Amino acid sequence: MFQINDNYQKLPGSYLFSTIAKKVAAFSEANPDKSIIRLGIGDVTQPIAPAIIEAMHKAVDEMADAKTFRGYAPDLGYEFLRKAISENDYKARGCDIEADEIFVSDGAKSDSGNIQEIFSTDNRIAVCDPVYPVYVDSNVMAGRTGTYDTATGMWSNVIYMPCTRENNFVPEFPKETPDMIYLCLPNNPTGTTIKKAQLQEWVDYANKVGAVIIYDGAYEAYISEDDVAHSIYECEGAKTCAIELKSFSKNAGFTGVRLGYTVVPKELKCGGVSLHGMWARRHGTKFNGAPYIIQRAGEAVYSDAGKAQLKEQIAYYMKNASTIKAGLQEAGFEVYGGVNAPYIWLKTPGQMTSWEFFDYLLEKANVVGTPGSGFGPSGEGYFRLTAFGSYENTVAALERIKAL
Ligand SMILES: *Cc1c(COP(=O)(O)O)cnc(C)c1O
Repeated sequence: MFQINDNYQKLPGSYLFSTIAKKVAAFSEANPDKSIIRLGIGDVTQPIAPAIIEAMHKAVDEMADAKTFRGYAPDLGYEFLRKAISENDYKARGCDIEADEIFVSDGAKSDSGNIQEIFSTDNRIAVCDPVYPVYVDSNVMAGRTGTYDTATGMWSNVIYMPCTRENNFVPEFPKETPDMIYLCLPNNPTGTTIKKAQLQEWVDYANKVGAVIIYDGAYEAYISEDDVAHSIYECEGAKTCAIELKSFSKNAGFTGVRLGYTVVPKELKCGGVSLHGMWARRHGTKFNGAPYIIQRAGEAVYSDAGKAQLKEQIAYYMKNASTIKAGLQEAGFEVYGGVNAPYIWLKTPGQMTSWEFFDYLLEKANVVGTPGSGFGPSGEGYFRLTAFGSYENTVAALERIKAL
């Protein structure tokens, strides 16, 4: 008789965003006259920029003609896109990443969930707490995390690196030595980040202890401060210890279009084995490429017109971020993030738990956010608001919060 992968049974029940959706639906049904403003889920709302739409239309037309039609894409992605990425995201910043070290994919969620496959199930992972849930859950499915303690919300074989106001949301080197370290900077959910010099310390640490860093740079485009690294490869020695994941979702609104990439440097080795070769094998076996039309759209992200339009789009969201931040501060909240990321992380007032604050905000202000505890035990007592709404809704939400 067949057996299932029992590790799936270990995953704790309800998914954060479905619980939120249920609560909001119940409130809305009971209060049909109230208009609810959603500053919860991390999805963009602005349309795809014109230069990108134009490139997509052109690629669609190419598909209609036998002479320009494209079938399966090359394993690693089209050269035109990998070259644009290498030049704009890396060489322009002094990072020596070649086009053939870039693997084009359908987004950073799949890559961040799949990358653990090329590592031993005996490896111990370290994650920031709070954290983007995919890193932990994908390792649960692979059987790397031990058992779940419902009382603490922690896995017995995961090394947690608390990021709280006490350490300014900067992860500290753990007491136990990890094999795989997940870092997402600028961070979702806290909206905070670390300085390039602090990231360099992580690279040095990983090289010293023989750990690999899985670096999620999904929010890189939101960095506004000078001393923050846009890529981990800006740090000396990162090519021997780090894999970088990038996404077109948050910088270019591709959440529904789907495009991302992963960098596995050729110098990254374990014993004599090249991780680049392993990921190439995995990609070739299990993935058949992002669509040609979407890769052309990705190329347009790096055109002059695309860059200018996306700069405006990011500025639009970051204006929301500063509106939220300033409004909350005015209302007396303790607020973090929102400077290098489209997320605002606030301390819940008094002794309120994250979910108590969720209910309070929904009932009294009709504003939806995300309870920090949903991202890990150290997120308890915090709350996330996102800058991805419309400016009008953001202003209206803050007026309501200030009036509480
Ligand atoms: C949104 C997000 C991603 C991007 O996922 P896609 O699959 O590319 O849409 C990756 N990592 C983090 C932390 C995110 O918040």
